[in-house]
Amino acid sequence: MAQRPGETLPRLPDDAFRRVLCVVAHPDDVEYGASAAVAVWTSRGVDVSYLLLTRGEAGMDGTEPEDAARLRHGEQLAAGREVGVTDIEILAHPDGMLVYSLDLRRDIARAIRRTRPDAVVVTAWDVEFVAGLNQADHRVAGLAALDAVRDAGNRWVFRELLDEGLEPWSPRWVLSSGDTRPTHGVDVTGEPVQAAVRSLEAHGAYLASIEGHPPARVLVEGVTGMQGRLLGTANGVVFRVWDLQARPPLGEGDEG
Ligand SMILES: [Zn+2]
Repeated sequence: MAQRPGETLPRLPDDAFRRVLCVVAHPDDVEYGASAAVAVWTSRGVDVSYLLLTRGEAGMDGTEPEDAARLRHGEQLAAGREVGVTDIEILAHPDGMLVYSLDLRRDIARAIRRTRPDAVVVTAWDVEFVAGLNQADHRVAGLAALDAVRDAGNRWVFRELLDEGLEPWSPRWVLSSGDTRPTHGVDVTGEPVQAAVRSLEAHGAYLASIEGHPPARVLVEGVTGMQGRLLGTANGVVFRVWDLQARPPLGEGDEG
């Protein structure tokens, strides 16, 4: 369903989910806007967990990878705290060289079975996303997470997860962040945006290492302001949303 000029996107229903898992490639990926939506959810009592696929060790040009990984781990935990998230798992797939693989899908499926979310937030996997050309790790992370949502519900794939005591779990919703064709949004005006600003500021050493990086406040207020226009609010976060329990639109006739 494409948005028509002048129309605003519908809001995600407040009661759509109770548990959310956000799957991203790197420390800081949640903090470029999406964490404002996370702040809204946690303030309503929704449990939100993060799964990071890499430690972000290749992200700081002047810092040795092991030092960068340690530093960014601490910054990510602080960033999560700003928006009410304490369950943060960081895997050690190689930063900058993330490979779409069955191993990666299994690791994501494991986190889905452990956290049992109703909704999984993933990053856009297209070559072009809302901010231009998409980064390789982000594309891989998004596609692998999408596929792992199905894997998590299938008892007969990754059977070692059963041996670990992890029963199948099927999330209902997939929310893609950064997709060029968003379908729904969350109003994050007010305190959620401020919490999101603080969550990006928590990546202080990392941001300081990137020459010319705009201040966190400018960036988060700018990104959520742009998305807010799609929603008809001052600040918003938009997603492309799929309901995996919806009946396939086959044989229902032409609504036109
Ligand atoms: Zn990233």
